[in-house]
Amino acid sequence: MSLQLGYPVPVGWSVDEGHKLHTEVQASSPGAIDAVVVVVVLVAIFLTLSWALFAFQRRQLVDSESIALKKLGELNEGFRASVARRPTLKRSFTISVNSKSRFVRFDLPKFMSGSILENEFWIASEVELRLTATKQFVAYRLDREAIEYPLLGSSSHPKLRQDRFVAVERRLFDRRKLKEPIPKARITSAVKYTSPKGKNSYSRSLVWNFDQLRHGLLDAQAVRASQSTAQALRKRERSLMTDRLRMTILRRDGSRCKMCGASAADGATLHIDHIIPVSLDGRTVAENLQTLCAACNMGKSNTFIG
Ligand SMILES: [Zn+2]
Repeated sequence: MSLQLGYPVPVGWSVDEGHKLHTEVQASSPGAIDAVVVVVVLVAIFLTLSWALFAFQRRQLVDSESIALKKLGELNEGFRASVARRPTLKRSFTISVNSKSRFVRFDLPKFMSGSILENEFWIASEVELRLTATKQFVAYRLDREAIEYPLLGSSSHPKLRQDRFVAVERRLFDRRKLKEPIPKARITSAVKYTSPKGKNSYSRSLVWNFDQLRHGLLDAQAVRASQSTAQALRKRERSLMTDRLRMTILRRDGSRCKMCGASAADGATLHIDHIIPVSLDGRTVAENLQTLCAACNMGKSNTFIG
């Protein structure tokens, strides 16, 4: 674009020849401006207040006529307590150790599981309460939807246009829906070590949220159950060791220690021993049993020399 003008145009400026510049200076007195501002503010306040009053009356009208809102109110009353959001589940477990190496090797997850099992009753019931609220909320939502879809928008009032009525009704309905009770937890386990004379302090921690707590509790309970099952099995194995079986093994082994050959005649006390210990799942059957003297048996202890 080239400009044929009689005067220089600075770079970056364009000149519109059809445009005329007017500069009007309004010379009003400061007092008049203040009065105008006051009037504008007063009008604004008046309009706001009348709008608020009008909106309030409209809400009241919709509230009194809406079947959906009435039903929602009843439903909320029935569920309010059972879906109430509970406070964050908080607990912290702290242990102090007396050496740096113990601090470094300390098994925090295991400490967490153990601490949770020690407080099992309290934690399990608090977790259950929150899970129940979550389940109740599912039921609440289904019931609420059963009101929402057929009934919302079905009511009206002659003093209010139907689309306005529905808009207000919808807004009130949304605002009054009960909130989902999202369960929260913050369970902390910490290990601490302070060096002699308090020179240095160390601390490590592990934090579990609600889901981690829920699963951690189930895992800890499962581990404990499997341990007690193993214990029961061991008890059963030991009970299978009858006098009759003892005599059978003794006779089979020639009434001598299978390791050193000592017999009762040598002053040895003979025991019937599990070759694979019961604690390592050894069975109480002839193939897994041997005669040992007390001295050899003590030396063997629970170690399995295969
Ligand atoms: Zn022996």
